[in-house]
Amino acid sequence: MRPFSVPVSLLRQYCFCPRIPFFYLVKDIKPVAKPWEKQGVIFHKRQCFLNARRRMTRFGLSDATMRSNQLVSSELLYLHGVCDSILFSGDSPVAIVEFKSRDVACTTPGSLIQLTAYSMILEDLYNITLRQGFFLCGERGKVHQIDITNERKEQVLLVRDSIYRDCERSLLPHSCASEFQCGQCEFINFCADR
Ligand code: SF4
Repeated sequence: MRPFSVPVSLLRQYCFCPRIPFFYLVKDIKPVAKPWEKQGVIFHKRQCFLNARRRMTRFGLSDATMRSNQLVSSELLYLHGVCDSILFSGDSPVAIVEFKSRDVACTTPGSLIQLTAYSMILEDLYNITLRQGFFLCGERGKVHQIDITNERKEQVLLVRDSIYRDCERSLLPHSCASEFQCGQCEFINFCADR
């Protein structure tokens, strides 16, 4: 199979359940949005509004500017997506910022993969090295710094390649998703064994 560009959001969803990218890419199923997804869009817009008024010193970067909803893609990595925000120093990006609605530090594997994948795309586009990224959490925008490590970068490529493998096999992937996960999943009606 020829490699194709994978949306970064599908890397995150693969970590939640490997069947989700399969449903999107192989079965071409577009599920109906759950109510909390609309709440997420409202939260995201509000954070963009608030960030225009916030000082960037909260990231330890006094001279940085923030650009939100940035479409980024890498032909080298076969990855693309719209990241929540990029911090720039002048014209050079210094970190990815992803918004999270919960106050607590969000270190689920999917969130870490997503932050790392966007950082890798910027590294490729600007020929730079990014050693950190941030989660901006909750209504008050609490900052959590995340290291962009080589291990996490390797994980990004492993997940991307697992998605290729599942697409090539065209067989419903095995899933270890829990009852709780399936209960909040928009694909529950398409998984006959759940
Ligand atoms: S219903 Fe469960 S097994 Fe099926 S895609 Fe969703 S999380 Fe995965």
